[in-house]
Amino acid sequence: MMNLSCDVIRDLLPLYAEGIASEASTVLVSEHLKTCADCRKQYESMNVESAKLPESGIPLKKIRNELRKKKTYAVILAAAAVLAILITAFAYLSTSDYFPYTENLLQVSELADGSVLIAFDDAVTGYSMESYVDEDGFTQTDLMAWQTTLDQWRNKGPQTARIPADVDTIWYCTPGQENQWIAGRQPDWYGSGGVITLPRLFLNTYALLSIIIAVLTGILWILLRKRETAARVLEKVFFLPVAYIIGHICVKGFSGTSYSPARDFFLILLTAFVVYGLLLIAVGLLKQWGKPEH
Ligand SMILES: [Zn+2]
Repeated sequence: MMNLSCDVIRDLLPLYAEGIASEASTVLVSEHLKTCADCRKQYESMNVESAKLPESGIPLKKIRNELRKKKTYAVILAAAAVLAILITAFAYLSTSDYFPYTENLLQVSELADGSVLIAFDDAVTGYSMESYVDEDGFTQTDLMAWQTTLDQWRNKGPQTARIPADVDTIWYCTPGQENQWIAGRQPDWYGSGGVITLPRLFLNTYALLSIIIAVLTGILWILLRKRETAARVLEKVFFLPVAYIIGHICVKGFSGTSYSPARDFFLILLTAFVVYGLLLIAVGLLKQWGKPEH
């Protein structure tokens, strides 16, 4: 005689047979099958049916796995998109605005030990100090000062630079302008067409190189699209320079000139890394959704 419990077990049997019932249900069903011959017969007939017709119906387990995969993809995609936006925002907020030289920008005082103290205006949130020996054997120090929006938010305190006593000449440099003499020995040529600090351009070279590689692999990919393995590899290679270009645009916009190329390059690589992941996932998703339904 079939009781209420059997009814419940019969409802669970399809899930049990597919192996996708919850743990509690699985225990319940298998315990019941040990004691109930009717339900056991029902279960065995189900197994025979599915063994006879392996292609029949849509395997529930497979659908559930695919759904889960799609959900995971979507979550990763969203997380990576947020990360790319955050990096871009950080790149924008940490971009340096360089101060041109004015008399109020910095104050110079010589200390007893011969070193020089430079106190910058309050608006300055950061500075760089680069020393080198010129062709006449004199030590030169180039100063640059800037502010970033991020530093302003962080309320960075007044900036001071201490320049060692063995430096012969201190310069203040602004990108695109003639270097300003600050203290120390004045070279003979000073005042008659000085040295201009130029931005470094190598990011442009990298971007251009990426475009060339993207175009070449893109063409190869189109030519070899019929060969599955080659196409799959080329697709992955193609996305590398593309990700770099997108990273460059996120960090630098359409400009390639940089006064802090190391920072910019690092941010571009970071963004490119995230974008590359995004591209691969997006293509994976497109391919899955493009597949015809069973
Ligand atoms: Zn039963």
